[in-house]
Amino acid sequence: MKERQNRRRTVLFVSMMLIPVVINYYSPIMPVEGAAEGVVVGSLVFFGLLFTTSLFMGRGYCGWLCPFGGWQEAMALASSKRTNSPLGHRVKWVLWLAWIGVITYTAMDAGGFRMVNVLYHSEAIISLDEPARYYYLYFPVLGLGTLAMTVLGKRAWCHYICWAGNFATLGNRVKNTLRYPSLHLESAGDCARCGSCTRVCAKSLDVQDMADANDFTDDECTLCGECVDTCPRSNIKYAWRWSRPPGNKAPQ
Ligand code: SF4
Ligand code: SF4
Repeated sequence: MKERQNRRRTVLFVSMMLIPVVINYYSPIMPVEGAAEGVVVGSLVFFGLLFTTSLFMGRGYCGWLCPFGGWQEAMALASSKRTNSPLGHRVKWVLWLAWIGVITYTAMDAGGFRMVNVLYHSEAIISLDEPARYYYLYFPVLGLGTLAMTVLGKRAWCHYICWAGNFATLGNRVKNTLRYPSLHLESAGDCARCGSCTRVCAKSLDVQDMADANDFTDDECTLCGECVDTCPRSNIKYAWRWSRPPGNKAPQ
């Protein structure tokens, strides 16, 4: 199934080329600016859509479509250092909650949200519509992420920085807790314990243990399918309906 991963990487690469067009829709600052004027801005709308789709697709957006995911996978070709720090995840959530608090407080102080404007400060649609914005926005953002990935490891932006990913993580938790039909991974209980899935995981997860436990509900899994398409026994599969609870292996 290498073709599927080639298609996924092609989509991510094309998406990465669109960063200058879409970067405003990831902005953590514009929601605060908009809140001060009672405006729901484009990035806030996008974060809401991300949460909604993740209720059924988990973090599939992060693994298959995100422009910053494409940039990280391109970077991982040069450095495949592994990273998955629970402390780093906790720090990210604390900062994220503080940011949500600032948006909420600012909006309440302004008398609440009164309108939606997805083109707020993006009237030209292309986010980087003047060369100066490359210098104070595009290069610093990419520089920060590149530094994080170089020092910490692959997909460090996803793990420890990305505020958008937290919206997808929340939706992912809802679906994994309530277990209604939605995209997830399952193990067939036929693991050879070769470790190939763990080695290829873009999020540095211990996929072999997850397959053993038939539990792929880790917040960090982006459903990229690298493990699915690498397993020599086809032990890991995409599924829509939940056939067995975690820990319940398939009959041999
Ligand atoms: S566990 Fe599999 S699907 Fe999830 S991030 Fe790792 S390789 Fe991708
Ligand atoms: S690649 Fe497949 S067989 Fe190998 S450890 Fe992972 S689940 Fe088991």
